[in-house]
Amino acid sequence: MLKTYRYRLVPSCKQQAALQHTLDLCRNLYNCALEQRRMQRTTPVAQMREVTELKKEFTDYQGVHVHVLQNVIKKLDRSFENFFRRVKAGQKPGFPRFKGKDRFDSFAFNNTGFSLAGKYLQISKIGAIKLRLSRPLPKDSTIKSLIVRRSSNNWYACLVADYTPQTLPASELCVGLDLGIENFAALSDGSFIPNPRIYEKAQAELRRAQRRVARRKKGSHRRKRAVELLRKVHERIANRRLDILHKESTKLIQKYGTIVVEALNVKGLAQGFLAKQVQDTSWARFIQLLSYKAEEAGRRLVKVDCSYTSQTCPECGVIKKKSLSNREHNCECGCRMRRDTAAAKIILGRIAPLGENVGAFSPCVA
Ligand SMILES: [Zn+2]
Repeated sequence: MLKTYRYRLVPSCKQQAALQHTLDLCRNLYNCALEQRRMQRTTPVAQMREVTELKKEFTDYQGVHVHVLQNVIKKLDRSFENFFRRVKAGQKPGFPRFKGKDRFDSFAFNNTGFSLAGKYLQISKIGAIKLRLSRPLPKDSTIKSLIVRRSSNNWYACLVADYTPQTLPASELCVGLDLGIENFAALSDGSFIPNPRIYEKAQAELRRAQRRVARRKKGSHRRKRAVELLRKVHERIANRRLDILHKESTKLIQKYGTIVVEALNVKGLAQGFLAKQVQDTSWARFIQLLSYKAEEAGRRLVKVDCSYTSQTCPECGVIKKKSLSNREHNCECGCRMRRDTAAAKIILGRIAPLGENVGAFSPCVA
């Protein structure tokens, strides 16, 4: 199983300059290769071959590992592939564009050109950079590739490790999850995962940072600094959110053998009237985390059809329309409970007829 581990790099000033220089050269190559593909008929294979000649001709490029340069060509080719795929699908994508300084933030190594030794990451042509080994790599893992990434003013090393996951002891427990806005999730056992509302809480901070940018003169150094601060606020929000998603998904995986969720059309929902809240709760990311953690631990994540989950009674199965504002489930059969708990029970109940449809995604809006 492949998994990416991200560590913060602590480069010296000299190393930082070297990293930035490499990034600039890669960006330059990307833009030149894009220009070439726009102007003449060429293939990524031919461009890759030219990389060797480029290294001979320009001394600057001799200071960059050949795989890094080839990966730039691959990156460009991927953006062309995506472009053509979307054209074929009848969408109207933007043509691959030239990358400005802020739009190119990583370069990649294949399995050579770097090595990890204790607290240091030896990167070819750059040197041994200290890194914060915040968590150990899994035992007996082999590192497949390295991506060096800049984010705001920090540098990160993303190591892609291949390893055999340790499965958790089997659990007979099953749970249904109803993802919502009032609560992040309602569990079929009647408990809840509260909505952290991180974006809402950070909004004042965010607004202040945005205002600071808006007030400063375009092109000025002060504005640049304000933009940097705004970016940091965004990053902090994203980190906080991801942290909670990780903690909650891990808790669920450790306790339950089978987790049943509804196959949501999050993209459709996020465009609707509840867009901001839906983005904030990041259901899609949560399901993604659950799904890889389940695979790793040998647990089961099942996605079921989500139609009428909140309208059906878990006791008698009668469908009764409820408006969105109606938070209680009150059925004639005497079944009374919270609306989302009822939905979670329905979701759990749907596992039986549908069986193991892991990964099946049926689009739905409800
Ligand atoms: Zn009922």
